[in-house]
Amino acid sequence: MTEDARTTLPLVFEQPRGRKKPPRHLADLSAEERAEVATALGQPAYRVKQVAHHYFARLERDPANMTDLPTATRDAIAAELLPTLLDEVRTQQADRGTTRKTLWRLFDGALVESVLMRYSERATVCVSSQAGCGMACPFCATGQGGLQRNMSTGEIVDQVVDAAAAMANGQVAGGPGRLSNVVFMGMGEPLANYRSVVNAVRRMTSPAPDGLGMSARNITVSTVGLAPRMRQLADEGVPVTLALSLHAPDDELRDELVPINTRFSVEDAVSAARYFFDVTGRRVSIEYAMMRDVNDQAWRADLLADVLIEHGGRGWVHVNLIPLNEVPGSRFTRSRDDDTDEFVRRLEAKGISTTIRDTRGDEIDAACGQLAATDA
Ligand code: SAH
Repeated sequence: MTEDARTTLPLVFEQPRGRKKPPRHLADLSAEERAEVATALGQPAYRVKQVAHHYFARLERDPANMTDLPTATRDAIAAELLPTLLDEVRTQQADRGTTRKTLWRLFDGALVESVLMRYSERATVCVSSQAGCGMACPFCATGQGGLQRNMSTGEIVDQVVDAAAAMANGQVAGGPGRLSNVVFMGMGEPLANYRSVVNAVRRMTSPAPDGLGMSARNITVSTVGLAPRMRQLADEGVPVTLALSLHAPDDELRDELVPINTRFSVEDAVSAARYFFDVTGRRVSIEYAMMRDVNDQAWRADLLADVLIEHGGRGWVHVNLIPLNEVPGSRFTRSRDDDTDEFVRRLEAKGISTTIRDTRGDEIDAACGQLAATDA
């Protein structure tokens, strides 16, 4: 690609201007901002704190159930700080009720999805950070519809609070439990909505009642490789887990599979991932969706290992192979098992720790890359 073509690519990771914003919500605000809002509403700060306790510590989103507040106070605060952000359109279940996908309608009609997956030792919610996605990866269902808009911090956090409440209230097969993990692997490119995503992580990790008190290492931010934003995230001081969706070790193929690669190359993305490890000490995951006869050749496994090792050894990185989930109308299909096994062997032979991701929920189109959010 020529320099010219590089500089004329649209700024796909900027928010379209002039849109109506989602209503302000408690979850958008830090503790200090909440105190300011309390003052502006003429309410004592402790009242707003009480509401925060309901929301973050008791996972209670319905103001009618916040019965320790005087009705008038409750109504005033609810009107200003607890608008409904996510309207449930439907929830589908799979894997004997341990996987649940929810389709949400946002205030402006935009549709997004989140997926809750319960395992024996953990429960993970996969959240959306944008309505649609501007990254246009041709093997991903979300990428086909383009970007509608960035989601607000509140809209992101509320997906997590809903999932945590579903776990706590025993709505997920297996009895009451605790939500332990969050992955930004739903719709959207989280680092293209940087501010809202980082604020959402802060709400998730702040101790109650300022936030959900989750551990940052149990929160995974997955990116196509927006290198400058990856470096910024490293410097942010929130030690999340970073996942880089690489899918190819060479620019020629990656330009096709992850179009933003024409702007941030394999070298740019992998160096930024290494920088993240250097700054945070957190091992980075490399995501690699296995596509038959496209990116699954044994020589590409060797090349992938070499590229990773060139950036400073083996201990800084872990490869996660994702069996491709086939998307209607897509020419990409899942690798043969033999090719996947050989790919793993080659990586491991070079000392790269590798796992094959367990796929959940493909029969309800809830698996990686299948979120299309249609209410048809
Ligand atoms: N935009 C972010 C996060 C969303 S997708 C990113 O790209 O990382 C989460 C993961 O699912 C990414 O690794 C993505 O490449 C992968 N994915 C997308 N479509 C897929 C498909 N059809 N099958 C398997 N994985 C897919």
